[in-house]
Amino acid sequence: MVTIAERLDAAYDRIAQAAKKCGRDYKDINLIAVSKKKPLEDILAAFAHGHREFAESYVQEGVEKVLQLKEHKNIVWHFIGPIQSNKTKLIAENFTWVQSVDREKIAKRLNEQRPNNLKPLQVLIQVNIDNDENKSGCSVEELPKLAEFIHNCRQLELRGLMAIPAQSMSFDTQLQSFAQLRACFDKLKTQYPQLDTLSMGMSADVDAAIAAGSTMVRVGTAIFGERQQ
Ligand SMILES: *Cc1c(COP(=O)(O)O)cnc(C)c1O
Repeated sequence: MVTIAERLDAAYDRIAQAAKKCGRDYKDINLIAVSKKKPLEDILAAFAHGHREFAESYVQEGVEKVLQLKEHKNIVWHFIGPIQSNKTKLIAENFTWVQSVDREKIAKRLNEQRPNNLKPLQVLIQVNIDNDENKSGCSVEELPKLAEFIHNCRQLELRGLMAIPAQSMSFDTQLQSFAQLRACFDKLKTQYPQLDTLSMGMSADVDAAIAAGSTMVRVGTAIFGERQQ
């Protein structure tokens, strides 16, 4: 049986290979292990192997894990799922990063509910890059206004953008979607030069994401195996 440690090593290798192929430094790409629907033991196996950054998609499940692993103070938790406004307080109190902010109302609540004794929440705006009606994310047109709003929130620190493009088996199609997000990022960066995070790439499209300039990949299945639906 392949262990989580081995799959984690394979994921790091894959990132290094993809980076090398396009002349990038693998150190500029941060691997976030997506542990949603996976038990604590799996997170602890990755932790024991030296991994420190994990992401969850469901508030209740994520907060439970954060609290249960509280003594591991150096774990960095990312929230990457859709956000309902009645769940913002739990996110603001328990996570270091939120990658799925897509509207002003949510940003406003996270800002108000982030405890003052904690560092500002590290925020990525989720962009609906393919204008898919069934997906969350703000439109490219709404992006400048939302970025400005978040920039003016004291307890939020805008770090960049995140997207989940439409699934495709074709490297070139994947690359096209990611290139669109990259263009949005570059444009926004002219106004906010401190932006440093472009979160794109999952198990099935990490290579194209890295070729398009991703600085953060979110990998679940390739590390922890298939999830039960
Ligand atoms: C589940 C999820 C991932 C990880 O997907 P895999 O295909 O398992 O690697 C990445 N990003 C988001 C937002 C997710 O919800």
